[in-house]
Amino acid sequence: MLQTPSPFEKQNFRDEIFFIKRDDLLHPDFSGNKARKFEYFLLNNFSNIKRVVSYGSNQSNAMYSLSVLARMKKWKFIYFCDHIPSFLSKSPNGNYKYALENGMEIFTSQDRQKEANSLKDTQTLIIQEGGRQKEAEIGIKKLAYELIEDIKKQNIKNPYLFLPSGTGTTALFLKKYLPFQVYTCSTVGSDEYLKEQWKMLDDNEDDYPIILSSKKKYHYGKLYLEAYEIWKNLKKELGVEFDLLYDPIGWLKFLENKSNLRGTLIYIHQGGVKGNESMKARYERKYDKI
Ligand SMILES: *Cc1c(COP(=O)(O)O)cnc(C)c1O
Repeated sequence: MLQTPSPFEKQNFRDEIFFIKRDDLLHPDFSGNKARKFEYFLLNNFSNIKRVVSYGSNQSNAMYSLSVLARMKKWKFIYFCDHIPSFLSKSPNGNYKYALENGMEIFTSQDRQKEANSLKDTQTLIIQEGGRQKEAEIGIKKLAYELIEDIKKQNIKNPYLFLPSGTGTTALFLKKYLPFQVYTCSTVGSDEYLKEQWKMLDDNEDDYPIILSSKKKYHYGKLYLEAYEIWKNLKKELGVEFDLLYDPIGWLKFLENKSNLRGTLIYIHQGGVKGNESMKARYERKYDKI
C-alpha cells in the first residue's frame, strides 16, 4: 500500500553534497512520517474498531493523514480542536478542507485531549496528538531499516541524520534503530518541551537524539521571512518542495549548527506538503505583495 522503499536521492545545496529520503513520495494521499507512524493501523485488521478519534490543531498534517486512514479503513473519524476561525469554516482550505472531504467530523473543545480520550471504548481507536504513541515505532523502524540499506548501497562512509521534530516521535524511534548519530531540533515548543515529549515514550535520556538549538526563538506556526526564503531557495536549487511549517525551521537551525557536525547529512523529507496550501497563502499575503 505504501510505495516502499521510498526514493533516496543525492542532492546538492550550497555546494554541499547530502542525501534526502523522500518519504513525501510514499503514497499520493498517505505520505510522510504520519504514514510511517500510522502504518501499523493501516496494515493490521481491527475488526472491532468502527471509529478513530483524535485531537490537535485545525490544520494539522496528522489530522489530514488520519482522515485518509479512516477513509481507507471505512472508519468514522472524529476530531477535536481548540477553535475553528470563522474565515476557515466559511472557506475551508489546506488540510482542514481535505480532511472534511474525507469525511472528518470536527468539533471544538475547551480540553480537546480530555474530550477525545473520554470517547474510548472497544470500538474506538484513540490517536494522541500528532501520532505520539508507541505503535508508531513499527513503521518508523521500517524506515530506519530502509535508511541502513540506502546508505549501504550509496556507500556513504560517515552518515548522520537530521530531521526537525514536532512531538519528536519520529526522531526518537529512528535513533533507536540507527547505528549512527541522529540530530533533531524543536519546532513546537522549547528544547525542554521536546525532551518532555520524549519522556512520555521513553524515560532513558541516553536514548534521546541530539537537539540542535538556535539563538533565535521560533514560535510554532508563526511566519518568518528567513524561513520563507530558505524554503523558496530549497525549492529552486533542489527542485524539491518541503513542508512550510517544520522544514524551514529545521533547515535554519541545521545551518546554524552545521559547522560543528562532521560527516554526510541524511535529511528526511517527512511529507506535509498538502498542508502548504494554507501556509503558502499566509506567507504570500505577508511577504509577496508588492
Ligand atoms: C508531523 C510532522 C513533523 C513532526 O513529526 P514528529 O514525529 O511529531 O516529531 C515534522 N515534519 C512534518 C512535515 C510533519 O508533518
